[in-house]
Amino acid sequence: MDYLPIFFRIDQQPCLVVGGGHIAKRKVSLLLKAKAHVTVIAPTILPELQDLVLKQGGQIIEAPYQTSCLEGQRLVIAATDNDQLNQQVFADCEARHIPVNVVDAPDLCRFIFPSIIDRSPIVIAISSSGQSPVLARLLRTRLESMIPAAYGQLAAFVGKFRKQVQATLPDTSVRRAFWEKELQGRFAELVYNGRTDEAEKHLQQALLAKPTSAGEVYLVGAGPGDPDLLTFRALRLMQQADVVVYDRLVSQPILDLCRRDADMVYVGKARANHAVAQEDINDLLVRLAQEGKRVCRLKGGDPFIFGRGGEEIEELAEAGIPFQVVPGITAASGCSAYAGIPLTHRDYAQSVRFVTGHLKDGTPNLPWSELIHERQTLVLYMGLVGLEEISKQLIAHGMRPEMPVALVSHGTRPNQQVVIGEIHNIAEKVAESGIHAPTLTIIGEVVKLQDKLAWFGKD
Ligand code: SAH
Repeated sequence: MDYLPIFFRIDQQPCLVVGGGHIAKRKVSLLLKAKAHVTVIAPTILPELQDLVLKQGGQIIEAPYQTSCLEGQRLVIAATDNDQLNQQVFADCEARHIPVNVVDAPDLCRFIFPSIIDRSPIVIAISSSGQSPVLARLLRTRLESMIPAAYGQLAAFVGKFRKQVQATLPDTSVRRAFWEKELQGRFAELVYNGRTDEAEKHLQQALLAKPTSAGEVYLVGAGPGDPDLLTFRALRLMQQADVVVYDRLVSQPILDLCRRDADMVYVGKARANHAVAQEDINDLLVRLAQEGKRVCRLKGGDPFIFGRGGEEIEELAEAGIPFQVVPGITAASGCSAYAGIPLTHRDYAQSVRFVTGHLKDGTPNLPWSELIHERQTLVLYMGLVGLEEISKQLIAHGMRPEMPVALVSHGTRPNQQVVIGEIHNIAEKVAESGIHAPTLTIIGEVVKLQDKLAWFGKD
């Protein structure tokens, strides 16, 4: 992060704008919106700018800039077309530790103006840290269309009841649950429709009902790694959970989308190094929910595909804790799509089989004869250990040694790598490639299509 995003309270505070043209006027308007006490200094100042400032009790000084006018200023904007003057204003402010912005000169800015979505009192500020203001503006347009115009009214209306609700519901998690329910339910709808009397009545009744915070668990599939592959529901629940319990396969960009003040609990498992035993994870989920927390159990891929999600909710069901399950894109779907390998294809594979290879006494424990089918794609959910042994066993049980194989490492992530080979030489190729877990193995004629259909990571 190159800049600290903050909201600056400048009502009635002295702010100086150096410059008297159209750009200065734009900045003055913004400062006046935030109720600043504005002084404009320049040898000539547009009459309409003068009107604007004077109407709001500000000050106009038709004179060249002098350092002395920085005295007592909270912030300063230079909007002149004189580079030397801009430099000087910047240097003067820096020497006095006054936040300064020189319009269109990022190097001469101690602070920058974000793109704004104004639904006062809700204000959203977007910045590209000066890298691409156009991108920030495009993003703003997208957000504008998503946020109801009456959001500001809702926020202002809620502000009136904040203290009362705080006094009635002193417990933070109870209060948060109460607001979340009301702000997404009937109360919000009534405010949007301008029926504020009814909205107030509804709120008072809801408060009388003495809400409690019942804990619950969301078992959420986070997909294979690319945050774009999350479902809307996954994102919504990630952003409302009090605690996020996650494991190794959940990528950092996905964790970054969780509620910022949520407790993040890592229960990751690396092979042969069980960070937290499954039973302890099950118990943890029950305990957190019983404490009244909303818990997001975030798992890589889909929670019901080799994810032991079933076991986790079994325990919740027994303890009578409410839960919901959100499917995710499983590694087979994500990796095959991003590697350009269709799992089924009319000409090559009519079925697909997902298996996970557990090692028992160093040898994989798989139903070998069921895996050998010419027109079936085989997807192995497992790391690299055992690949050589599995290849040998498959050949020993009748698989053609030339059967194409792909290994996808870090599928759907920016560091995705694909190694292509045949079942007789894949272990060797993988060893040469130096790729790392997580890896997914896809075996079948469909792998041949990769050459033509790969797209991810290509320009
Ligand atoms: N529930 C998960 C699978 C958990 S089993 C899902 O539905 O995807 C763990 C295995 O999944 C790993 O050993 C690896 O084989 C595979 N895997 C998960 N994410 C992957 C990724 N981004 N790239 C490659 N393989 C992945």
